Amino acid sequence: MSHFETDAIRISASKSNHKEHSAPLYLSSSFTFDSAEEARQMFAEEIEGNIYSRYANPNSSDLIQKVCAAEGTEDGIATASGMAAMFGSIASLLQHGDHILASRSLFGSTHQLLTKVFPKWGITSTYGDISDFTNWEKLVKPNTKMLFIETPSNPGLEIIDLEWAGKFAAAHNLILVVDNCFATPYLQQPAKWGAHIVTHSATKYIDGQGRVLGGLILGKKDLIKEVQFFTRHTGPSISPFNAWILAKSMETLAVRMDRHCSNALKVAEYFEANKEIDFVKYPFLPSHPQYDLAKKQMSQGGGIITLTLKGGIQRAQRFIDGLQMISVTANLGDSRSIITHPASTTHSKLSEEERANVGITDGLVRLSVGLEHYEDIIQDVERALNFSK
Ligand SMILES: *Cc1c(COP(=O)(O)O)cnc(C)c1O
Repeated sequence: MSHFETDAIRISASKSNHKEHSAPLYLSSSFTFDSAEEARQMFAEEIEGNIYSRYANPNSSDLIQKVCAAEGTEDGIATASGMAAMFGSIASLLQHGDHILASRSLFGSTHQLLTKVFPKWGITSTYGDISDFTNWEKLVKPNTKMLFIETPSNPGLEIIDLEWAGKFAAAHNLILVVDNCFATPYLQQPAKWGAHIVTHSATKYIDGQGRVLGGLILGKKDLIKEVQFFTRHTGPSISPFNAWILAKSMETLAVRMDRHCSNALKVAEYFEANKEIDFVKYPFLPSHPQYDLAKKQMSQGGGIITLTLKGGIQRAQRFIDGLQMISVTANLGDSRSIITHPASTTHSKLSEEERANVGITDGLVRLSVGLEHYEDIIQDVERALNFSK
């Protein structure tokens, strides 16, 4: 096996007759067969090949191969968005009457799936608190089939022990699903710790430039086969164009993440030393409550920081309004630094109690540290802090 960077660059779609150096874009709904017999064999899955872009497309296959090499997973499916991946991984593997055990701190829409969408079809869930793992044994029911976690969590940056999760899932015969969006496979590989399924919003760091949406469901071949049946026939397929963009982006994931992480650490240290800040949270700051665990399972701290300013929500809003360079938008993992106020935007559909449960206070601000020079990011933040006084 080659190194991460080399695989991400050199694993690529096979060349066409034109011998192009960079993988081309395959905008084709369907693919042709040399004979009626070949068509029959392909539909019967006796031979491999492209049939129809809802099933697979050379660009989505290219993306999947690169990400599987990065995650250390056997096979995968690329979807139109991260949420299509979250939905598809659960809907394909569970059925009416099954139960999911999940960590409480989940992405807002994933929380909506578990609490509002799946119960309509008889799939229920229970949340566990990461502050007390001893309690989780009691939360397993006879019909619990899946353990669903997100680490680090969005936006609370809670870290869940992947080694514990892998062992817990194995002991209770649960399918372990890990949303690895914040860490990316460059910083953390959940399959190494026993995750059966790894999901991604590729929209974030895998794209890395705020252009396209995409999602990934990765894992062991037998499970992916079941997911594939579901996605082939329900149709959340990624567009070839988006898959092409994301496959190209994989080639630069390692260098981008190195810079996101080193910038974020510098900005987090700046906040920590600033008296205007109530608290700052970043996985690789020793003050993070799970610093040791983050160090154990992540190679670097990622690109996201959360902080609370002294002065609560009004101060947070004045701070956001005082920024001149950093963008105010809902995305993250972009080359451009982004500020978000979760309580009034991404997590506004949650009740106050639900927000409190996942650590989203009214004054909490999420900063996705981009690839600009860190001194310019700090300068913008400093200006906004002074403006907001
Ligand atoms: C953004 C995000 C998602 C959803 O992905 P989309 O591509 O926006 O559908 C899921 N999980 C996490 C942790 C995210 O940050």
